[in-house]
Amino acid sequence: MTEKRKLGLSTQIFISLLIGAIVGLALYYLVPASSFKDDVLVGGLFYFVGNGFIRCMQMLVVPLVFSSLICGAMSIGDSKSLGRVGGKIILFYLCTTAIAISVALAIGSLINPGIGLDMELIEVAQPTVAEATGVVDTFLNIIPVNPVASLSAGSMLQIIFFAILLGVILAKQGEKADTIIRFFTQFNDIMMDMTVLVMKIAPAGVFCLVAKTFSEIGFNGFLPMIKYMLGVVLGLAVQCFIVYMLMLKVFTGISPKVFLKKFSSVMGFAFSTATSNATIPLSIETLNKKLGVSKKISSFTIPLGATINMDGTAIMQGVAVIFVAQAYNIPLTPTDYLVVIFTATMASIGTAGVPGVGLITLSMVLVSVGLPVEGIGLIMGIDRILDMTRTAVNITGDAVCTMIVAHQEKAINHDIIMQDVDII
Ligand code: ASP
Repeated sequence: MTEKRKLGLSTQIFISLLIGAIVGLALYYLVPASSFKDDVLVGGLFYFVGNGFIRCMQMLVVPLVFSSLICGAMSIGDSKSLGRVGGKIILFYLCTTAIAISVALAIGSLINPGIGLDMELIEVAQPTVAEATGVVDTFLNIIPVNPVASLSAGSMLQIIFFAILLGVILAKQGEKADTIIRFFTQFNDIMMDMTVLVMKIAPAGVFCLVAKTFSEIGFNGFLPMIKYMLGVVLGLAVQCFIVYMLMLKVFTGISPKVFLKKFSSVMGFAFSTATSNATIPLSIETLNKKLGVSKKISSFTIPLGATINMDGTAIMQGVAVIFVAQAYNIPLTPTDYLVVIFTATMASIGTAGVPGVGLITLSMVLVSVGLPVEGIGLIMGIDRILDMTRTAVNITGDAVCTMIVAHQEKAINHDIIMQDVDII
């Protein structure tokens, strides 16, 4: 019964997404600017409901990640198994990102997005440039100086580090720490219930977010950039529907069709919000309830993935590098390609999955091969729609790697995967 209601919710999210896009485009093209349209509808109602919904999901991220990670680490128990799960997932995350950027570079070289570009038609914006952090400091930053400050700032890797330590120690203490163990277990259940509650407003939230975005961008800016956009979307599609699905089938034997059907509502959510971070609660919940993945694995791998694994973002960066190189007529050598693969893989580590962050880390990638950072200004105007699409791929990559590791750790319930397959 409950399951049926939930399946209804996924469908509702999709319908809202679609209607939102149609309403947004209709507003952009058919309704002239007026204070009712701009201030009351788009800037008022859509903005309030859409952002209110994102804030509700964001509100859950830190308490949910913290408590579910502690519970996850407690239930894995020994630090050896934890190290094994951690090692495997990081390896998968790094490999998928390297594949993603290679796919993007290949597609970019094939499509030549920056050749024949009419610069006159492009709106150039002022880019934000990222401060490059050294590799050593990036890793050092994982250790929190003050865990309470990390919690309040939402620094995901630091929270993960502290929560795992706490979970491992609680598991060791067992009976002795009974009260604290019960506290976190119950707190985690409460946060999960809160996620389900907040998701009830998802259809309205998704509708408003998508309608607002489309009512502001329309298609006009897309035309001169169409080759670049096609390159990115093609790369994302190859990664999502070929690379991931092959990996899923080969490593777990699970049907890609079933996975996509059950996970598509999470992809729709990520698409409308363009933030991997806010998607964490829904992703953990869906992997658990619909795809049988034990929370002891997903509570660890999903928040980690939202921070360090951004394959969709890497794809955009790969195509963007070729686009900028061609637009400014700067040739790239094979070594440059290797440098891009390395820098783009590293750039995503430690940056939170929030809207637009991929454009900021792109500056590091461009600088690494001597391309002008101003190139980002060329693609900024049309980035939002690509941000939405790549975020959906980012979180799908995290989920597929999680399914593989959970399968290898025998922490996946295959009966749940096959439940309700026909009625979705
Ligand atoms: N919005 C993306 C995410 O949250 C990051 C990016 O590519 O800008 O995963």
